[in-house]
Formats: sequence, C-alpha cells, structure tokens
Amino acid sequence: MSEHIFIGVAWPYANGPLHLGHIAGAYLPADIFARYHRLKSNKVLMVSGSDQHGAPITIRAEQESTTPQNIADKYHQQFVDCWEKLGISFDLFTTTGTLNHTQVTHDVFLTLLKRDYIYKEKTLQAYCPECHRFLPDRYLEGTCPYCGFTEARGDECDDCGKPLNPSDLKDIRCRLCSTPPRFESSEHLFLRLSSFQDELTEWIKEQTHWRRNVLGTTWKFLDEGLRDRAVTRDLDWGVVVPQPGFERKRIYVWIEAVIGYLSASKEWAKLQGDDTAWQAFWQEDAKSYYFIGKDNIFFHTIIWPAMLMGYGNLNLPYDVPGNEFLTIEGKKLSTSRNWAIWLHDYLERYEPDPLRYILAVNMPETGDSDFSWREFLRRNNNELVATYGNLAHRVLTFAYRNFDGAVPAPGELNESSQSLLHEAEVTLDAVDRLLHRCEFKGAIKVAITLAQEANRYLDEQAPWKTIKTDRESSARSVYTVLSVLTALKTVFYPFLPFSSEKLHYFLGFDGNVEEQGWKIQFLPPRQKIREPQPLFVKLDEDIVTEETSRLDSLRENQEI
Ligand SMILES: [Zn+2]
Ligand SMILES: [Zn+2]
Repeated sequence: MSEHIFIGVAWPYANGPLHLGHIAGAYLPADIFARYHRLKSNKVLMVSGSDQHGAPITIRAEQESTTPQNIADKYHQQFVDCWEKLGISFDLFTTTGTLNHTQVTHDVFLTLLKRDYIYKEKTLQAYCPECHRFLPDRYLEGTCPYCGFTEARGDECDDCGKPLNPSDLKDIRCRLCSTPPRFESSEHLFLRLSSFQDELTEWIKEQTHWRRNVLGTTWKFLDEGLRDRAVTRDLDWGVVVPQPGFERKRIYVWIEAVIGYLSASKEWAKLQGDDTAWQAFWQEDAKSYYFIGKDNIFFHTIIWPAMLMGYGNLNLPYDVPGNEFLTIEGKKLSTSRNWAIWLHDYLERYEPDPLRYILAVNMPETGDSDFSWREFLRRNNNELVATYGNLAHRVLTFAYRNFDGAVPAPGELNESSQSLLHEAEVTLDAVDRLLHRCEFKGAIKVAITLAQEANRYLDEQAPWKTIKTDRESSARSVYTVLSVLTALKTVFYPFLPFSSEKLHYFLGFDGNVEEQGWKIQFLPPRQKIREPQPLFVKLDEDIVTEETSRLDSLRENQEI
C-alpha cells in the first residue's frame, strides 16, 4: 500500500548564497524525509524553487548595479549546484520566474477574487518624492520603537526581531536616498484572512500531531485575531496583477511563493508528460508536508491553508515541521553581519555526508541548536570515522582478504549473532517510527547506536583471531556484521546517502539503495564483495583553528 507524499520546501530568496541555517532549518530535513519515503516504496514529490521576486532581490540588484533578473539567475544556478553536491534530491527545483508559475498564480488569485476572498481597498502608502516611487516596507528604514535600533526596516526590526509596520518607525526615511517619505493613497488588493478565522481554528484543533513550537506560534496568531492582509505591492518586479489599474503593482512575493508549491507540482507533471500527474499528490489520500524555518510558520499554517480553503479541492498541509534556528559557534547567525558558514564554501572543502550528519544529529527541532567546528571535528572523527566507518571498513577488508573476496557461509548462527541481528531489526523499526513522525535527531541517534553495538560484538568475537583456530566462528561473526551493515546502510541512507551508496556497492549489490527497500538483507553466502575504501575521512585537529579564524576574518572584511 504505497502512499503519495508531497513535500514542499521553503522557497529560498535568490538574493544571496545559502548558509548552514537554511540547510538545518528546511532543506536537509525535507531531503531526509523524501529519501526515507522513497526507501519505503512510497511515491514522493519534493518541490521547491528559487524565489526570484520581492524587495530583497531588487535591493540587492540596486546595490550591485545590475538587474533583478541577473541576481536571480546567478543565485538560482548556485542553489542548483549546491543541491547536487549536498545530495538534496528535489524532484523539481524551479523558479518563480516561469510562465507556468504566473498562470497558476493568476488562476488562484482570480478564483479568490471571484469568491470575494480577495477585495480592493485604498490605503496610505509611503511615497518617496526624491525617487518618484511608492516604497514597499523593506525600502523604508527608521528607528525601532521597541529597541531603538536605528536601521530597522519597514516590515521588521533586524535587531530585536519584532514585526513592524512602516508607521511604527521613528525618523522614517527612504532606504535608497534617505529622504523622509510622504504617505499617499494607493489602491491595493487584500486577502480576507479574517473570514477564515473560524475554519482555521477548527482545523488547527485537529492538528495534534504537529510540533509544539509550530502549534504555539499558530495559536498565537489565531488568538490575536486574524486581520486582512494586502496581497499586492507597489513594485515593478514580480508577478503582474491580473486586474486593470494595477499595472504598476505586483503580487506580494509571499503570496505567490506559497502558490509556488502548486505551480511547481504542475510543472513537474508536464515534465513527466502527464499534465494530471500532480493531482495524486494534492488530492485524495495524499499527505502534504511543508519543511520550513520558524520564521515562515505564519505563511504555512495560516496564509497558505486559508488560500487553499478559499480555492477548494486541494489538500491542506498534513504537517508543517518547522525548525528553530541554528547558531554558529554560540552566536546568532546573521547574514548582514556575515556571521555565517556558506554552503558553497563548505562544499568546496569538505564532503557532504559529515555536514548532513552533524546537522541531523544537532537538528534544531524543538529548540535552537549550535554548530561549532570543534563539534564537527569531534563527531566526524569519533562517530563517522571511528564508529561507523571503521566498523564497515574493517569487516569488509577482512572478508575481502580472508574469504576470497566473498561473503562467508555462516554455518549455524549462535546466540550472540542472533541477538545482534535482532538488534538490527529493532533499529530498523525504531528509526522507521521516528522518521515517520519527522523526529530526525532521535532517529539518527538510534542508528549510530547500532553501529556501536556491532563494533562491540566484533571486538568480542575477534574474527581476526579465530580465523587461525576456529574458521567457522570467524565466518559466522563476519557474516553477521556484513548483514548488520545492510541494515546500517538502510537506516543511514536518508541522512548519509553518499556513504550508504558506497557501502551498498562494497557489499556487492548492484543498483542503488532505494531499490532495496527498508529491510535488513541477509547476504547470500559467496556473494562477491568489492574491494572496500574508507567511507569517511579523518579530519585534522588544525581545521578547528583554521575554520574559526576564517569565520572571524570574513566578519571583519564585511564590517570594513
Ligand atoms: Zn527592534
Ligand atoms: Zn528615495
């Protein structure tokens, strides 16, 4: 009974590179979940794309004296490269710049307008007399009324994190030319969010399986009472508004970004040569999961569900496993202050699996968590290299050299072998249950415990000693650990796909790990194994000082 699992992952703004906070927050957990379900023989559709629109892109383009399209194209390409190197296995990673996206956005928009869930209203908007343009919230700057930060934006204070309205700012000025704006009347479209208050409340009450932090944040918004939200902006970069009189306005980037989940699914279907293939992931028994950082909760548990309710006939989110934030070396990650580890930079120097490992084992699921290079080194060397990698390497090398490059025939399994094999089955079940509930951190810890158990067993059995005195016992213990390795490559596959594929190959299998399914494979005696290589590389102590001084120097350069 194969299930349809839709996985939507937050759309990254194509205005700058990705950092480890993005990866730990959304992309890695989504990929772990997708790979897990594919291994379980479920049908998975995982989509996202780069968000080309919105003020962050135009601001970046103005800073770099280029066009928004150039900025978007440059970072989109960088995202795609990073996904490939890190093994983030999207079924489609598109952009919001496609004609298909505009068409789907217009369809949703016009349907909501026709049903009166979107309406027109005049409001006061900041207008810069110097730049001769209306200024979106992010183009406004001033002093935060809460913390006194002098460079707070019109939509949010970067320092204390409070959401703001432009009218909250003191000493308000245009971010481009520093002139104080005047407020002029401008007509906009609004989403009638208030009319979904009751329906959303009833629906949220049923979501008892959601994470506590996600429910807590969602209830806070519901308890405050939902207010209608403007869904158009005075901008000339974005999806055009399909209404006369709105030629100089665009659809608010956040509204069209969430519609991107649907448009990307339709684009994927077209690429499959079956225009209706998306429906199986959006209707009937399919379940949809949205992987996001906690700053996006509102848009995925309130705005998008409200739009889906208004549009009708499409699945509401089944789960929104929003993650908390990642700190770097104990400090809040900040792109504006350049306190970040950039993904493309990491991938130029290190392998993908160790990063996937440390971010999974430290995943900010229920609270913020920290990344430090010392911890990275420790976990790489002690857990990946010394525990899992060493287990695989020593038993494969031993079998390869002493049993004619093949799986030895085990004879009768004794109690300790049976008990370890049983442990492997128990681990498969436990990791299965945890991943099913999106508990990634717990799942990977259970997986590494099995590698520890297998090491202990191997040390006890010491096949390298018994080979001289009791060949049958040596064969039995080697056979047992090789079988446990088939379970380890399975439970680790969602987390560490590159090393699992290698292990799969060394064990003598053809094809790939996903085709084998979620199970322990009892190896046929005399199956040829392949000459093994180490799964992981031991890192030198020096990287800790090198990397931390690199972080410091990046920050200093930014400040100059
Ligand atoms: Zn503030
Ligand atoms: Zn101005």
